[in-house]
Amino acid sequence: MEYLNISPTSEPSSPLPPSETHEPGPTNSSGSGSETSESNPAPVTINMDASGDATISAAFQPSLRIDDLLPDLTLISSNNVYFYVHRHRITGASSNSFGGLLLFDWGAHRHGFLPSLHLPETGDVINVVLHTMYGLSCLHFHPSLETVEAALDALIKYGVPIETYTAPFQPLYQLILSHAPYRPIETYALAGRHQLEDLAVTVSGHLLSFDLSRITDDLAKKMGPVYLKRLFLLHQSRLMALKELLLKPPANHPVTPGCNPNEHGKLTRAWALTTAQLVWDAMPSKPITGFEVDVPEAQGLPSVALSVVGISPNSLRALLEPIAETIVCESCRKMLQQRIQEVMYSWGQVKPTI
Ligand SMILES: [Zn+2]
Repeated sequence: MEYLNISPTSEPSSPLPPSETHEPGPTNSSGSGSETSESNPAPVTINMDASGDATISAAFQPSLRIDDLLPDLTLISSNNVYFYVHRHRITGASSNSFGGLLLFDWGAHRHGFLPSLHLPETGDVINVVLHTMYGLSCLHFHPSLETVEAALDALIKYGVPIETYTAPFQPLYQLILSHAPYRPIETYALAGRHQLEDLAVTVSGHLLSFDLSRITDDLAKKMGPVYLKRLFLLHQSRLMALKELLLKPPANHPVTPGCNPNEHGKLTRAWALTTAQLVWDAMPSKPITGFEVDVPEAQGLPSVALSVVGISPNSLRALLEPIAETIVCESCRKMLQQRIQEVMYSWGQVKPTI
């Protein structure tokens, strides 16, 4: 994530206590003497602790005005990243006063002192937590999936209802979903662990080509038995649907001078042979060879094996069209094309998510 470097001051401060420390801010040049939040001073520099490596969040800076108010609280991460935030936003998003940290007497924190709280989470995690609580997107920071996972735990701890913030198209929903193309099973497990139904359903669409035998014990435990079962059922039902579709060969056409039932039998046999190789010989997650991967999320990702369950209608057509090469009758070829179109359409209608 991005931080602003803070120039160390020449006056080292005493070590910071674990929480509710007071950071002296600059005097209010307006001299209004008002004790409202709007007139609270916002420090532009911060006394460094002994390690001298403190930074300010690029997003939550001292000058950040929200609802026309300047920050009135500093949150300090475990790695000394300072976040300047607004108590009313924090308490508004939290059902437990930010894990009980904001229950103290705020009257003692006036007169030029900006209260600060030390948090055990890293700056990357707090960054996601705060963006979520403010209803902002932090996609541009590209937090890792591990960071997002830690942020979800922190959000729960700080009383933020994650099911609300992971509703479709909320910033946190988009953030989690952004990992689905690259780490689909881990993202699915995360959604399952927190029973984030909408996310789990959407992410499952990225797992059609996933080799289910690669699900580790840890992943299975994390996603839980219900989401694990639903994922297996998704693969199984799609495989059954594909088998059902391919079981029906191209229709016969009326007898013509150049084609007879024996000739048409060639088409039926060629269809049966090709489709048998495709689905009867394939396990749900067995990779198919012989054609280019056209699943976008599988491109360039060696960890993703393309399976018959995740085959696209276009790839299916590419596998079936060579049947025509063995057929000389033009009418038979037309019947083949017609059947391929039907299969493609029906396959595209099969439910692609849990
Ligand atoms: Zn024919």
